[in-house]
Amino acid sequence: MDIKTRFSPSPTGFLHLGGLRTALFSWLFAQKYNGQFFLRIEDTDQQRFNKNSSLDIIESLSWLGLNWNKEPIYQSQRLQKYQIEIQKLLKKKKAYKCYCSYERLELLRSNLLLLGKKPRYDGKCRKNKKKNFTENQSYVIRFKNPHTGTVTFTDKILGKIIIQNSELDDLIIQRTDGTPTYNFCAVVDDIDMKITHVIRGNDHLNNTPRQINLFHALKGNIPQFAHLSMILNPKGQKLSKRYDMSSILEYRMKGYLPEAILNYLFCLGMLNQKKEFYSLKEMKVFFSLKNINKSPSIINKKKILWFNHYYLNTLNIEKILIYIKKYLFINKIQILKHFPLKDLIIHFMKRHYTIEDFILSYNYFFLDFDIDFKKNIQTYCKKKYLKILLNLKKNILNLSFWSIENVSNVFKQLLLKFNLKFSKFAKLIRISITGKTSTPSLTIISFLLGKKYFLKRISFVITYLENFFFKKKIDLI
Ligand code: GLU
Repeated sequence: MDIKTRFSPSPTGFLHLGGLRTALFSWLFAQKYNGQFFLRIEDTDQQRFNKNSSLDIIESLSWLGLNWNKEPIYQSQRLQKYQIEIQKLLKKKKAYKCYCSYERLELLRSNLLLLGKKPRYDGKCRKNKKKNFTENQSYVIRFKNPHTGTVTFTDKILGKIIIQNSELDDLIIQRTDGTPTYNFCAVVDDIDMKITHVIRGNDHLNNTPRQINLFHALKGNIPQFAHLSMILNPKGQKLSKRYDMSSILEYRMKGYLPEAILNYLFCLGMLNQKKEFYSLKEMKVFFSLKNINKSPSIINKKKILWFNHYYLNTLNIEKILIYIKKYLFINKIQILKHFPLKDLIIHFMKRHYTIEDFILSYNYFFLDFDIDFKKNIQTYCKKKYLKILLNLKKNILNLSFWSIENVSNVFKQLLLKFNLKFSKFAKLIRISITGKTSTPSLTIISFLLGKKYFLKRISFVITYLENFFFKKKIDLI
């Protein structure tokens, strides 16, 4: 069988982890069997439509490498097709116009609720054979759901499911404004696109028997269904912006890697895991709908960080460089020209869990003289230190070769000459070149900053101190 899956988000908000896991699993299933994976944007409900949402979804999937076959399909561009299918159903008397007012439906609803019953449409207009309605009276179109019998299907994750038709009411397939509804469009499209497997969140489980009846009415092939359990926050509630990021792209903004996010989601709720780390290639091999846990999964943000730390420190450095450059670009951070970013990664990435954490820890490398060092200088730098700085400047200036060893030697000589404790000396230089009181190894930091910027910053501090203490220059000893 030629496998065809689809990810079909409604563009009402940004893509979050739950939606992304659905996309990943649909994608993996198609890839595993050399099938096709489509992206379908379900945007017929213009009232709930968010203009930026489709862009966010497309950008997120592209960033993560979950590529789809052909162009994305927008349901808003297929309205004519839905109209044709609705008219066919009306003609075959498989659908009918319902003129019931909002007030009547509300009353019906509250009466049923008062009796402790499930609210459902009573079929008034289904029975009404005569057309005693005026032309301009507004109506919806309902699907004539069978009254008797059952809908039975075997969900690939949840197993056999049997629903009595008597529990389902006549579904609205066209709203009063003439637009078709989700359940109807999804079925028309799944038939047209020859979808073989519908993999989606189990919040759609209630829709499935209704859709199966629609498949029958439209004489389409019924796909296999697989309903994924929800991803919940640690309190067992639905994920919300309060706990999760508002969009997958926010993970990118904060310096997470696609590898980490995909690996995390792949393992979330996966039974019989053989190992912890999976590349996309391996995910394709190990993915199986049989191994997906039926129970909800709880999100663990520390685990995402843990995966991120792993990939930051194990992926090929050229790849990490590309990610970092992209991070700098989207966050509009300019780094010093010719800055040895690669060396910084080699020396210090091990301490960091995200690119953001990494970059912000070394912002003194990136922000040229935008360092708020004055406060620290005034607190820690004494008058007598000026001479040390002047000597340091001279010795560094005289270095013919810029290496960690040579920088370290200059520091050692000065310590001896001025008979200083290393901690005091280091604090002075550290503040002068970074504005911070603590950094990783002073020698490495100085080396990475480069001779030009090292001297620039030391000179800046010298001038500042001269003005501060003397309002004039002093002689070098
Ligand atoms: N548009 C639906 C949603 O965003 C998905 C429908 C489906 O996968 O059938 O939840």
